[in-house]
Amino acid sequence: MHSRAFLASLCVAFTLAASLSTNDFGNFEPPDIVERDIAIIGGGSAGTYSSISLKDKGKSIIVIEKKNRIGGHTETYIDPATGTPIDMGVVIFHNLTIVRDYFARFDVPLITSGSDVDPNAVSVTGTYDLRTSKEVNITSPSQTNVGAAFAKYAEFLAKYPRLNDGMFLPDPVPEDLLMPFGDFAKKYGIEDAVATMFNYNPGLGDILTVPMIENQRVWGQSLVQQLAGGFLTTKHHNNSELYSKAQAELLAAESLLLQSHVICSERSDGGVKLIVQTPAGRKLIKAKKLLITIPPRLDFLAPFNLSAHERSIFGKLIDAGYYTSILNNTGLPDDLSITNYRSDTAYNLPQLPGVYGIGSTPVPGLKLAYYGTPRSNSTYPLSDQQVKSEIVNAIKTLQKANPETFSAEEPQFVEYSSHTPFYLQARPGDTKAGFYREMYALQGERNTFWTGATWRAQDSSDIWRYTEEEVLPGLVKEL
Ligand SMILES: Cc1cc2nc3c(=O)[nH]c(=O)nc-3n(C[C@H](O)[C@H](O)[C@H](O)COP(=O)(O)OP(=O)(O)OC[C@H]3O[C@@H](n4cnc5c(N)ncnc54)[C@H](O)[C@@H]3O)c2cc1C
Repeated sequence: MHSRAFLASLCVAFTLAASLSTNDFGNFEPPDIVERDIAIIGGGSAGTYSSISLKDKGKSIIVIEKKNRIGGHTETYIDPATGTPIDMGVVIFHNLTIVRDYFARFDVPLITSGSDVDPNAVSVTGTYDLRTSKEVNITSPSQTNVGAAFAKYAEFLAKYPRLNDGMFLPDPVPEDLLMPFGDFAKKYGIEDAVATMFNYNPGLGDILTVPMIENQRVWGQSLVQQLAGGFLTTKHHNNSELYSKAQAELLAAESLLLQSHVICSERSDGGVKLIVQTPAGRKLIKAKKLLITIPPRLDFLAPFNLSAHERSIFGKLIDAGYYTSILNNTGLPDDLSITNYRSDTAYNLPQLPGVYGIGSTPVPGLKLAYYGTPRSNSTYPLSDQQVKSEIVNAIKTLQKANPETFSAEEPQFVEYSSHTPFYLQARPGDTKAGFYREMYALQGERNTFWTGATWRAQDSSDIWRYTEEEVLPGLVKEL
């Protein structure tokens, strides 16, 4: 256990290195001291949900978000000419009470995804191999066979009901949960579900080599159940509406610091102190509890003076790269979406890194392009410039190879977003050795609680459920 003086000196050293000025927890005047029950780091899906839920439970909170808006991976591009929104990040949610109640609280109407699409509108999906730019003929399994494969998969999941709530793995961890997902699919005869799983769970990396348990995080019981009834999306096709409204409420309640980040901190059994850089200068935040919702990578967590134990746990995480963009001048017909397939791979899956697909949008002339990398030990395996040039290259090669279908134009980025580091996950050997058990055991240590995608899944609905059911009860009880 570190002494407070040691922690404070670490803080000064870190601050000196980071910004060339000294700081001390005692050097703040009352107007720059903020006292709250809970300080929340990150205002994305998990941080925003947590803040609203805790506020509604009568707790005082402060959210520290590094960007000038909350919402994290939920990003909506508004076409300036028409005002039409395009959700280029999070699109769909599970049809669950917790989801419906959350949106209803902000008066954001929901519909079943796809239910308002005009059935007469012509929309085509082309299957191309984006290495060769040639169209490939894909024989997809019938809906009946896909349904049967998911039924078998659901039967397997039913053996482990706690996995529906988080990475609560049996001890010892069964080999079936650790094996590469491709081997699992063969063993359990669920091959006909693989392409659907891949398409709904991009950003995971190579689904066939990823351990079964990591694909299962998103493809858990809850998501499988949604396949039958349909997913929810916002009626206005603007998922950021939820976050704009939450942001206004949090700002009005002096519960949100935008464009702010923690410089250094002291986390002890007595509570938490944070020195936060904000646009209005440095603030000292004193809180009873800290809730960290940002990806728990060692570099991101540097200001939180991690213990050797915390460092040894989070240092094991690896991740993948995931990027989204909107382009114009693609030369592709407005009604055409392109899925990247290969004729020579299992399940015709594309090789990563590569373009997942190029989708239509409601705005004529604009296309959405998605790009991903496999998992890697080094985050940011590709620069944004590399990703952008590969996307443009794929489109231009399509134009050249198919002059009768696509016109030769110079694609331009209207919007680009890197969601890297994405899908933080453990290697199977570490999972077998009890990684997730150890990670979950950190909840509450040094008055610090944790939530977000790494703790649950890259799935907002499941993050909200995990946060509400598994994290906040323990946190609130300790206040
Ligand atoms: C393109 C895309 C599409 C997706 N589609 C869906 C979908 O349709 N349905 C679905 O359920 N899920 C979807 N997901 C997954 C979903 O977005 C994530 O699971 C969810 O956003 C994760 O929430 P989070 O709070 O853990 O992280 P985030 O939402 O990324 O939030 C983290 C927040 O912390 C902030 N932050 C980071 N570092 C710091 C720091 N040092 N200090 C302060 N703030 C910091 C970030 O700016 C961000 O606001 C999608 C993800 C992507 C990328």
